Amino acid sequence: RLSRVLEPIQIGSMTLRNRIMMGSMHVGFEKQEDGVERLAAFYAERARGEVGLIVTGGAAVRPEGGMGDKYCNVYLDQHITPLMLITDAVHQAGGKIALQLFHSGRYAHKEATGLDPVAPSPLQAPINRWKPRELQADEIEMTIQAFADGAVRAKKAGFDAVEIMGSEGYLINQFLSPVTNKREDEWGGDFQRRARFGIEVAKRVRQAVGSDFPVVFRMSGLDLIPESTTMEETVQFAAMLQEAGMDALNVGIGWHESQVPTIAMMVPRGAYVWVAQQIKQGVSIPVIASNRINDLRQAEAILEDDRCDLVSMARPLLADPLIVRKSSEGRFDEVNTCIACNQACLDHIFDGKIASCLVNPEVGREKEWALAPATKLKKVAVVGAGPAGLEAARVLAERGHQVVVLEKQHQIGGQLNYARQVPGKQEFNETLRYYRTQLSRLRVEIRLGIQATTAMLEEEGFDEVVVATGVIPRRPEIPGIDLPHVVSYAQVFEKQAKVGKRVAIVGAGGIACDLSHLLVQDEPISPQAAQYLMEYRILDAKSMHRMQQSGRKVFMLRRGKHVGTGLGKTTRWAVLANLKRHGVEMMTQIDYREITPQGVVITQGDAEQLIAADTVVIAAGATSNDQLFHELNGRIPVHVIGGAKEAGELDAKRAILEGSAIGRAI
Ligand code: SF4
Repeated sequence: RLSRVLEPIQIGSMTLRNRIMMGSMHVGFEKQEDGVERLAAFYAERARGEVGLIVTGGAAVRPEGGMGDKYCNVYLDQHITPLMLITDAVHQAGGKIALQLFHSGRYAHKEATGLDPVAPSPLQAPINRWKPRELQADEIEMTIQAFADGAVRAKKAGFDAVEIMGSEGYLINQFLSPVTNKREDEWGGDFQRRARFGIEVAKRVRQAVGSDFPVVFRMSGLDLIPESTTMEETVQFAAMLQEAGMDALNVGIGWHESQVPTIAMMVPRGAYVWVAQQIKQGVSIPVIASNRINDLRQAEAILEDDRCDLVSMARPLLADPLIVRKSSEGRFDEVNTCIACNQACLDHIFDGKIASCLVNPEVGREKEWALAPATKLKKVAVVGAGPAGLEAARVLAERGHQVVVLEKQHQIGGQLNYARQVPGKQEFNETLRYYRTQLSRLRVEIRLGIQATTAMLEEEGFDEVVVATGVIPRRPEIPGIDLPHVVSYAQVFEKQAKVGKRVAIVGAGGIACDLSHLLVQDEPISPQAAQYLMEYRILDAKSMHRMQQSGRKVFMLRRGKHVGTGLGKTTRWAVLANLKRHGVEMMTQIDYREITPQGVVITQGDAEQLIAADTVVIAAGATSNDQLFHELNGRIPVHVIGGAKEAGELDAKRAILEGSAIGRAI
């Protein structure tokens, strides 16, 4: 049972019902015709889920610091009225909401704003193709005032608080860091002068909104940029912010351009709470911790240990708007847990699309996808218990249909069972736990080890059938593919094949990357055993490192140009870097000559070479397993979804989306 999480807390004059805050996320709904209404519905749903405070995505205080007209803006008085739709909806749902005041500085995109990005110094960000121009002293003054004016507009629009965005490498952060601030006037130079811009913003906002309006400052706890602000300076900056009248500090981690993954699935849960803890020691106002906290029991433990005063969760509230309510009622197993995949949220945003959620495609469709009971109750068979089938079964049963799931394997999950074995992808276990709980709650009958046939389905009198039978691994035509040391990726994941010490993988897409990870990250010594062996000096660090290696050499081979296609923008770089660290060799633009007992003979240009391997794994895509669909077509109303409809990479996002859609259509 939770207790500390559910204790009310004071942020300035505002009392929050509990200590969970929904962190700011840009979801991009503004791009749509009815964007503000969609945002209002989205936030209201989270407010109904009883989260203590919602922070909106960034609202630009200056046009050159935003993302253009199709973005949340607060730099004109005319922006106030639309924002009121959001505050009204949240208040009606019993929630509280803060507007985030935002200026992206050198991260701004000229193609969106039509204006040159601005920054303390004219230094281009490695993740932006536009070079910023240096702000003049009078423009600095005007920008500080813009934060204050934005705060006043937020107050007028009915927000309960504002949050000043000062982390993640945006403008305020750019002023603070010696890496991006090379000024020699009173806004740059030593730490005090670099801190001045952020402190002036904080003071001016406080002055503008009055002493009783809550102001949170999102500060960078750790930039993860070489030569940037030190921890000592960070703690000092926190104290200066308190002095400047801030009511709480929300601690951000890592600039957007940082080379360190901070929120990907591979980042252990709660890995950065220590940063908030450091800051908390230097101030007396509430400190908010974030990054990879996706379970309220974990939040409870962090708060119980007094490491921070509130916990901010962003993506977990996309995955499940009701996470707080469900958890406060002890229904932890019913939570649809964010698996930190980034595939439908951040990856969409970085691709200029609208955010949704891989495990909860209802995000962004709150209005049109609200679940309604079925008008005619039916007996529906769902064939296949992969992500597509599981989601279809869940939604169908929620709407009142009688649902039977037939799965030929002896466990549910389909290809999720592959993914969850991959080091750093254990969060997929949570998705399986969620479906297991939901289907049992909804009394869905699950029959395992059953190969569904047309005759069987007809005999049982199903009104409709959903075919979600997934894919069959593709076997490319390469001479020697039938040799005994050639196996499919499915055989490796299902532990039906013995894998040797030198492995050549035919294919280098998402599945091949997962497979490589799995194959190189053997840990013959558990972390606990390693700690014991080192503590008693039985093994030194060097020998331990050697012992921990799998000793396996893996080659990924691809005809095309790129490795890891199908992986999202925000994680691909980290996955590939990790594989390289483990010595995985990636060879692209090759042709296959043949597979021999010694390995794979390839050509690269005119050169021919043998990639010596004792095991060859085929991970060269898949074809749809749609035979049952074609057999049923015309005999029983039948629908096909997921891999059975369209084979491709392991695409749980599309699978769950299609399952959710068909669940609403029958
Ligand atoms: Fe979490 Fe993935 Fe959903 Fe994003 S898409 S909220 S990371 S589960």
